[in-house]
Amino acid sequence: MKKADIALIGLAVMGENLAMNMESKGFTVAVFNRENGVVDKFINGRGKNKSFIGAHTLEELVEKTEKPRKIMMMIKAGSPVDEVIEKLIPLLEKGDIIIDGGNSHFEDTERRTKYVESKGLFYIGTGVSGGEEGALNGPSMMPGGSEKAWQSVKPIFQAICARTDDGTPCCDWVGSGGAGHFVKMVHNGIEYGDMELISEIYHFMKVILEFSAEDMHRVFSQWSEGRLGSYLIDITAEIFTVKDEDGTPLVEKILDSAGQKGTGKWTGITALGEGVPLTLITESVFARYLSSMKEERAEASKELTGPFIDFKGEREEYVGRMEEALYCAKIISYAQGYALMREVSQKYNWELKFGGIALMWRGGCIIRSVFLDKIKEAFDKNKDLKNLLLDGYFKNEVLGGMESLRKICAICMLNGVYAPSLSAALTYFDGYRSEKLPANLIQAQRDFFGAHTYERTDFPRGKFFHTNWTGKGGNTASTSYNA
Ligand code: NDP
Repeated sequence: MKKADIALIGLAVMGENLAMNMESKGFTVAVFNRENGVVDKFINGRGKNKSFIGAHTLEELVEKTEKPRKIMMMIKAGSPVDEVIEKLIPLLEKGDIIIDGGNSHFEDTERRTKYVESKGLFYIGTGVSGGEEGALNGPSMMPGGSEKAWQSVKPIFQAICARTDDGTPCCDWVGSGGAGHFVKMVHNGIEYGDMELISEIYHFMKVILEFSAEDMHRVFSQWSEGRLGSYLIDITAEIFTVKDEDGTPLVEKILDSAGQKGTGKWTGITALGEGVPLTLITESVFARYLSSMKEERAEASKELTGPFIDFKGEREEYVGRMEEALYCAKIISYAQGYALMREVSQKYNWELKFGGIALMWRGGCIIRSVFLDKIKEAFDKNKDLKNLLLDGYFKNEVLGGMESLRKICAICMLNGVYAPSLSAALTYFDGYRSEKLPANLIQAQRDFFGAHTYERTDFPRGKFFHTNWTGKGGNTASTSYNA
């Protein structure tokens, strides 16, 4: 009997659809699930008369898979992944490959790669993006880990992944250790930012401009044809067409309390740890937390009054302004996300190819958009680009649209309308472009109360000074370091 080309553990929504995708591309797939009934249900249901081999134990799964074995886990991230790795190691032989396609934290993947390699095996941690539909029809895939295993896995991954319009696979080698899962994590963080920005613009349309669902459908549909063209803008346009049973827009009946599974939070925590100002994505995570405090907000709304909405602008003129503001803020969000990737890539020596990453996100995943081509072009021109805002194209676009972003933020502030990510984009931009910031006063305060020392504008960097500010303290300075 023919052995399987690849084995898949975990037949929940992602695993089942990924298995179907692999089989449809001509691969024989051995499948296993901890809860065994799921395997039989699949083999006798969706997988009936197809090239699947069911396995009821991990031993059977390993036995039925061609060497070098490629065993892919699509299971709940966290301790389940470690548990399954421990069970697989004694069953596998030198050169076999364990693959984790779930949303694992990149530091776990970094650790697991070293551990599995120490056992004479290979490990790949791959981001898989695009949800259920992507898993079935072609996800964006971001593999990293043991580079020596890439050539064995590549034909399968590049057969099942999404492709750009010119046929380029949205899957390529990302880097060693946890690089693949790191890039997937940043992808998810960027997704949080994109969704929050779109939601804030929707809020502006609804609360300030008093647009109807039909108006919003028209505007988002129009934008989807232009430079904002993306999956998220497309589905947003469609959302406004869906009516509840009573004929009113369904979106207005949905409770304004956003859920999350943690990858946006991880992105923010990583940025805080690395000292990278990832303000927009982090605000998007906080915005979901604030939204989830529904009952507390309802109480506060009765106590803490704000201004009445007083908008005197031309509503249709603001369609163009909103498009410009959204585009500007999106550029700034990606500039921050790429700055984080640059920092972490250096730390782990991953040598991430930033243009290639934009290409991997071009199809199959939630943040797919025409805009990513521009990022690819920017890094093709200059692979060492420090910040996307310094690329010629993005600089011009941001400078051109900034007046609209300022106006929309100002209107929101003056009218008491919540717009944390739009304003995070604006304040980051104003901070990044300022040669002088008020941090000199912070340094004076730190030196005043804790003798933390400061550098001076009239001396070279790296020379530290301490002042006895009151004349009462001593002249002993604290050691100079940045935590
Ligand atoms: P879930 O995250 O809901 O995980 C369920 C699967 O994990 C089941 O097959 C379950 O087996 C298995 N599992 C849980 N604990 C263990 C364990 N201790 N040992 C063995 N197997 C275990 O499924 P999804 O399909 O939604 O996601 C799979 C992975 O893909 C996750 O890491 C998820 O974060 C990631 N992902 C999900 C996306 C989505 O849109 N859903 C998108 C991209 C990535 P059992 O049936 O026995 O409980």
